[in-house]
Amino acid sequence: MPGTTIGILGSGQLGRMTAMAAKSLGYRVAIFDEASDGPASSCADLTIAASFEDIEKLEDFAAQVDVVTIEFENIPVSALEYLERRRPVHPSASVVRTCQDRVLEKNFLLTNGFPVAPFRVINSAEDLAVGLSELAAPSILKTAALGYDGKGQMPLVPGDDASKAWSKLASPRAVLEKRIPFVSEVSVICARASSGETICFPVQENVHVSGILDVTTAPAQIDSGVAAEAQRIASAIAERLGLIGLITVELFLLPDGGLVVNELAPRPHNSGHHTLETAMTSQFAQHVRAICGLPLGSVKLRSPGVMVNLLGDLWHGGEPDWKLLLREPGLFLHLYGKRVAKAGRKMGHFTLLGIGEVARSRALQLRHEADIGSRQTNIER
Ligand code: ATP
Ligand code: MG
Repeated sequence: MPGTTIGILGSGQLGRMTAMAAKSLGYRVAIFDEASDGPASSCADLTIAASFEDIEKLEDFAAQVDVVTIEFENIPVSALEYLERRRPVHPSASVVRTCQDRVLEKNFLLTNGFPVAPFRVINSAEDLAVGLSELAAPSILKTAALGYDGKGQMPLVPGDDASKAWSKLASPRAVLEKRIPFVSEVSVICARASSGETICFPVQENVHVSGILDVTTAPAQIDSGVAAEAQRIASAIAERLGLIGLITVELFLLPDGGLVVNELAPRPHNSGHHTLETAMTSQFAQHVRAICGLPLGSVKLRSPGVMVNLLGDLWHGGEPDWKLLLREPGLFLHLYGKRVAKAGRKMGHFTLLGIGEVARSRALQLRHEADIGSRQTNIER
């Protein structure tokens, strides 16, 4: 109940926005991460900065929190298993184990009858050569662990040099999957309560640039039957995993209306940031409700909207022109407080309320103008 303490493993922007939602509901927040000054820490009551292998510090953390959650899935499962013996952990160690490893995740999806791209598990250059000839189509080689934002991925075609590609990937295990000729990418965020109740946010459409999410449009402008099927798949995955909390299911939409699951993230997701302003309940508030055993909130949209990511690249000419963005009615700017802007680093985002393509092109134009504006002030200086 509000007043108790939520422990979050990880201190990035997802942890920051989860912490803010938790604090709005009157919870205390404790962060555990290797870094002491991540974006979440400034919004938390306390931070323990230590290795996820430091048992003494994990014990200290467990003693100070009432429930534990994560904000990124690359947390050693051993730490989650340790904490599970002390406190409720949502998502559980076993759910995180499945979702942090592409081989386990794909096998889970395949064996439970969920639609996935044809794939092969790759443990060596020989496996890769065989995989490439068996899939016999343009494919993507992905590291089994620690990939994010398209990192640890390599596009390949049959006939490519398997040993060269394998040594370049430099990963002990990987998945080779067929490239899917999708018409669009969508995602569904599903909450599952301890009672087993599931509820999905409306489907949203995502555009990636260089493997990184760039723009999300909510709701997705897709056939309502296809949207309902995407939500059914997400709920079924949450149930099958026995998850408590949120899960985000990324899917490819095929030309014939079919759906293929790309990957799972058992937590709030970049593609759900717009819910802070567009939905009755934000994904972060929903996550807090689910892991704390509170009633799940309404996922109805109050307004359609478009979310645009602000990557470090936007800082190339100096600080972007925030005033220009803040003058726009219906635009909500979020900055994560990261001190150093690097190319590809997620520094913030904004959501612009509005419908479909009109809102999308306005949002992209505003981001562009904020960039140009920054360079002009630099020149004037
Ligand atoms: P994140 O965790 O940030 O979502 P990731 O690094 O785990 O990303 P994926 O989601 O697997 O990576 O891939 C990133 C993007 O690359 C996808 O959103 C999609 O645009 C493209 N992609 C990945 N796999 C395929 C595929 N099999 N066919 C076509 N495009 C793909
Ligand atoms: Mg992805």
